[in-house]
Amino acid sequence: MLSGDKAIELWEQVRQKLKIEAGDTVFDNWLGLMVLSSFSHGKIVIAVRSKFHKDWIEPRYGNRIRTLWQGFSSDIYSVNLIVDESLTEKSSKKIEDSSASILNLSSPLDPRYTFEKFVVGPSNNFVAAAAERIAESDDVTFNPLVIYGGVGLGKTHLMHSIAWKIRESNPNRRVVYLSAEKFMYQFVRALRQQDTMLFKEQFRSADVLMIDDVQFIAGKNSTQEEFFHTFNALVDQNKQIIVSSDRSPADLEGIEERLRSRLGWGIVGEIHQTTYELRLGILQSKSDDLKNCTIPKAVIEFLAHKITSNIRELEGALKRLVAHSQLVGRPVTLESANDVLHDLLRVNSRRITIDAIQKKVAEYFNIRLSDMSSPRRARAVARPRQIAMYLSKQLTSKSLPDIGRTFGGRDHTTVMHAVNRIEELSIEDSLLADDIELLKRTLDS
Ligand code: ADP
Ligand code: MG
Repeated sequence: MLSGDKAIELWEQVRQKLKIEAGDTVFDNWLGLMVLSSFSHGKIVIAVRSKFHKDWIEPRYGNRIRTLWQGFSSDIYSVNLIVDESLTEKSSKKIEDSSASILNLSSPLDPRYTFEKFVVGPSNNFVAAAAERIAESDDVTFNPLVIYGGVGLGKTHLMHSIAWKIRESNPNRRVVYLSAEKFMYQFVRALRQQDTMLFKEQFRSADVLMIDDVQFIAGKNSTQEEFFHTFNALVDQNKQIIVSSDRSPADLEGIEERLRSRLGWGIVGEIHQTTYELRLGILQSKSDDLKNCTIPKAVIEFLAHKITSNIRELEGALKRLVAHSQLVGRPVTLESANDVLHDLLRVNSRRITIDAIQKKVAEYFNIRLSDMSSPRRARAVARPRQIAMYLSKQLTSKSLPDIGRTFGGRDHTTVMHAVNRIEELSIEDSLLADDIELLKRTLDS
């Protein structure tokens, strides 16, 4: 399937070819005025501004345009020209006051996501302190701030907290907060409407630009390129940039090296997995906020002990308990908690991640963790890597392609081969079988 980002990229290439083939005059007067209008399910629709334009372009360049598209992607089976008279208005539209429309770029902030409601513990105190520092000061001292960590650990909460705080302490600073996904969506829309000027102006007039889940633009080349330019333009003007990501900049695959290294120029802070005390603190704080419902201390301790995956799940568990208790009209007890949450508790008790497997196996065989995803084929690293793939298949619910991706973007057939190979070998080789047994036991505990 052709993604929006890919379609935009191909369209740019088609335009470049046409420009070379038809020459500047024809391009500027006719071909260059075409706009990519939609691209779904292999159907490309290109808009021109009048019937006159269509009648001129179609017989002369219609087939060439089709051939170019299809030459770039075999997913495309139809390319049509349509007339869209509104294009004339759009392209002559003046750039509006960007400070007025900048608010439209920003996503709404969740009122519950503030610093006051963010519980700090050893796993997040460094990041929280950096976030507060940045929010309180008008000077740009660290640029960018990168907050990274696994899902449900509070990245979005912290991002919103910073935005709230800046808006509160200095309403003149223009804060733009949005997800990388929305950034891409806005960019694709701007390209489609030939409004990239407005897009650029708007983003570049932000004082603080916050992009959540930046890993989303990995592999999306034209969006990445645009983000990189916006990023540089803002840094050059000494504007603050804050991004979050589900992994460290160094581990962002599919992100161009120059962007990756720029992300590492400022402060990079990790939100680590939670500790028992932090989970306890968060549950305490969330249950204090509940109206008409008290959660016994024993239940809070029980949840903090049992639900270790992430804070979102912890919160979800608390909500379910409260909803259940209100529904049946009985207070929350240890017993009801066990009962209501049995599925969640089961999953949490057995959750083994590929990361943990890679770490353990690398440690066990005394190789570097990075060798799990490196292309090296030397036996000394290839065998442990196969064992780690095998254990990932056995102990997690991840699919073969997912596992392959985690091991340096390998193909699922490679994973399948590893699984089969280790199964065979462990029948012949009892030492290997022992290694695997031992690894399984340490991972399970
Ligand atoms: P992420 O963006 O890292 O996936 P979120 O910021 O969406 O995670 O956090 C998930 C949920 O957990 C949110 O409801 C958030 O309020 C809560 N949460 C996360 N960390 C904390 C914390 N330190 N204190 C209080 N609540 C937290
Ligand atoms: Mg988030």
